Amino acid sequence: MHELAIATNIADAVCERAAGRPVHRVTVRIGALTAVVPEAMRWCFTLAVEGTVADGADLEIEHRAGAGRCRACGAEFPCADLILLCPCGSADVEVTAGRELQIVSMEVADVRHLRL
Ligand SMILES: [Zn+2]
Repeated sequence: MHELAIATNIADAVCERAAGRPVHRVTVRIGALTAVVPEAMRWCFTLAVEGTVADGADLEIEHRAGAGRCRACGAEFPCADLILLCPCGSADVEVTAGRELQIVSMEVADVRHLRL
């Protein structure tokens, strides 16, 4: 379950930037090709922030669809999963979207909205 490792990294980063202020909400962007399961992510985040300044914070997840571009024929197409195959049959595909995994913003107790 790689969500726990990711959630722990996110929790660490959030707590570091919060610098002791309680965190109410964290927004993360997760691409479709990261193989992160949103429900598992939510659960792991809840565990990861337990006892920290972000304990009880809401986790907002922004989804990003996957997309790829074929190096063989130049076609751009949506990718639903990690099997990257162009409609032309080539597997020489460059991922152009869907690998996002980042903290977009967080809300701390003094109602400041931090863009990261
Ligand atoms: Zn192609």
